[in-house]
Amino acid sequence: MSDVLNYNPDCLFCKIIKGDIPSNKVYEDDLCYAFYDIDPQAPTHFLVIPKAHIQSCGAVTAEDAALVGHMFQVIAQVTKELGVTDFRVVSNCGAQAGQTVPHLHFHVLAGRDMTWPPG
Ligand code: 5GP
Ligand code: ZN
Repeated sequence: MSDVLNYNPDCLFCKIIKGDIPSNKVYEDDLCYAFYDIDPQAPTHFLVIPKAHIQSCGAVTAEDAALVGHMFQVIAQVTKELGVTDFRVVSNCGAQAGQTVPHLHFHVLAGRDMTWPPG
């Protein structure tokens, strides 16, 4: 179980970080948590989330800059560990963009050809 900064009792991902909802962990440190998506959209599909409850990319502040940079460093490290060289990082911000869980997360997708532009 981990502590969540600004824990939001209504937030699915806060509950996952706390361990109240089980998840398939890929990586964890003091600042962030990574786990496989329950509904994978590619052969490899995991999510990287901050342990602090931040609503979305649109809520990131200057104070979060180091945290967000760290999350990208984690993405680089974990993909290397998984032997993944080609991948896509996606963050949906807001319902129209497809965000369904209002806790900042980066999707990391790999293992198939990706189309552009995304749908
Ligand atoms: P969004 O739609 O907000 O961009 O991404 C949310 C993601 O969380 C979706 O890809 C969805 O499959 C995933 N997700 C939703 N509930 C759970 C869950 O309980 N466990 C896991 N591992 N992933 C989840
Ligand atoms: Zn949350």
